[in-house]
Formats: sequence, C-alpha cells, structure tokens
Amino acid sequence: MSVVEMNTVHSVSEAARLVDVANVRQVYHKGDNADLVVLDNVSLNIHEGEIVGLLGRSGSGKSTLLRIIAGLLHATSGTVNWCGKPVTGPCDGLSMVFQSFALFPWLTVLQNVEIGLEALGIPAAERRRRALNAIDLIGLDGFESAYPKELSGGMRQRVGFARALVVHPRLMLMDEPFSALDVLTAETLRTDLIDLWIEGRLPIKSILMVTHNIEEAVLMCDRILIFSSNPGRVAVELKVDLPHPRDRMDPVFRELVD
Ligand code: ADP
Ligand code: MG
Repeated sequence: MSVVEMNTVHSVSEAARLVDVANVRQVYHKGDNADLVVLDNVSLNIHEGEIVGLLGRSGSGKSTLLRIIAGLLHATSGTVNWCGKPVTGPCDGLSMVFQSFALFPWLTVLQNVEIGLEALGIPAAERRRRALNAIDLIGLDGFESAYPKELSGGMRQRVGFARALVVHPRLMLMDEPFSALDVLTAETLRTDLIDLWIEGRLPIKSILMVTHNIEEAVLMCDRILIFSSNPGRVAVELKVDLPHPRDRMDPVFRELVD
C-alpha cells in the first residue's frame, strides 16, 4: 500500500462521521392499494470529506432516502443520525439541491439564496454579503432581483446551488441536480461546477449525490452505492481506488479516462 493510500484510509477513518443510517425502512401508504415498501433495511454512513454517489433505477427510493437524511421525511423505522444525533427535522450544516429546483416563486433570486441563512440567525448585512458572493460565484451576477419564472431552467438550478452553498454546508445532498435540464444546459452547469470545485472555490468537502451518470460518479466519487429496486436497498458498494477526486479532475487524468 502506498503512502498516499495509507494516508487516505487513515484520514477517512479519523474523519467525523456525518451521516449514520441504520436499518431504515420506508413504507408509503397508498390508500386502498397495498402499502409500498420503498426502502428496506438501508444502512450507510458518510464521513467528513467523502464524496459518495448513489445510483439506482427510477423509483428505487433514492429521493426518499435523501429526504430522510435531510430531515424532511421521518422514516417508518430505523435510525438516522446527523453528527451523532438523531435527525428530527432539518439539520444545521446540511443542505440539498433538488431535482426540480424547489425555489420559492414569490421570492427574488437574492431572497431565495438568503433564506437559508435566516434560520442560522446570521445578521442581515452579513446575509446579504454572503448571498451576493454565492450568486456571483455561481454565475448569476446581475440577476439578483429576478424572479424564478423569469429565469431559464439552468439559471434556476444555479439559484438552487447558490442557496445550498451559501450556508457552507458540512454535507451537500444533490438529488439528480442536472436531470431536469436539457443536455447542453446540464453539461454547461456540470462543467462550471466541476471547474469551481477543482479550483477549490466551492465551500464543500462532503457530498452525497444521486446521479444516473456513471462517468460523473467515477470522476467525482470516493464511493459509489448502487440501489436495488422493489424495495430499495444498498445492493453494491464500490470503493473508487483513484487519487483524490480533485486530482482526478486534472485534465491529464481526464484524458486518460475519456
Ligand atoms: P427515486 O428517487 O429513486 O426515483 P423515489 O424515492 O422518488 O425514487 O420514489 C420511490 C417510490 O416511492 C416510487 O414508486 C414513488 O412513486 C413512491 N413515492 C415517492 N414519494 C411518495 C409519496 N410521498 N407517497 C407515496 N408514494 C411515494
Ligand atoms: Mg428521485
């Protein structure tokens, strides 16, 4: 084992455990129909600094699991801990980018981005400063006063990313953030974000990302979990034995895998 690998293994085992999901089961009650078991016996954990990919068929329960981790949905049974404490509602230090953007249509871009900081009790002037920085970073400079309906899909999702980044989350959950966008827009946004990330300009170290894009998962993740369907559970767990994801983004390395 090389020194680099030893260091990696060492640092992950020493890193704080952010998410701990144990034996989670989720059943949706479907009126007169049989209940739908969406997640069965799902267990996983995420340490600080890890980038974990979650793949699986449509309907296998990926979004449900993300909502449970984010505290937006209480699992039917099982335990979900965030930083060692049971999740009972939205957690500090955790933010999410949704597949369908989930912006507030009655708020401007600036207000949509600032809203996550209000809950943290950050003073107004500081909220404004940080929100403007995030908007600038994500390429929406000049659109602060626009409403979501005035923006294209790609720009709306940029607002979604700005809102998630502005809190400097310890963990960012991404639920197929590019899948509602047309191919070209998705590619532009993905490339812009990856470039910012390589440059170290995104204030995130740990990510749990749902994606259908295997190439994206291999390029970005330390670990890839693959869900089975009916019900969803972690069927395969792959450790990606490559240099740190950021070094993998190096153009020379990218040429090798392309
Ligand atoms: P994925 O994100 O992997 O596509 P979801 O977690 O969105 O899967 O959904 C898993 C299954 O649960 C699907 O069959 C979906 O129709 C169903 N489902 C999702 N949310 C609800 C809900 N609130 N009530 C009832 N069924 C739901
Ligand atoms: Mg989904």
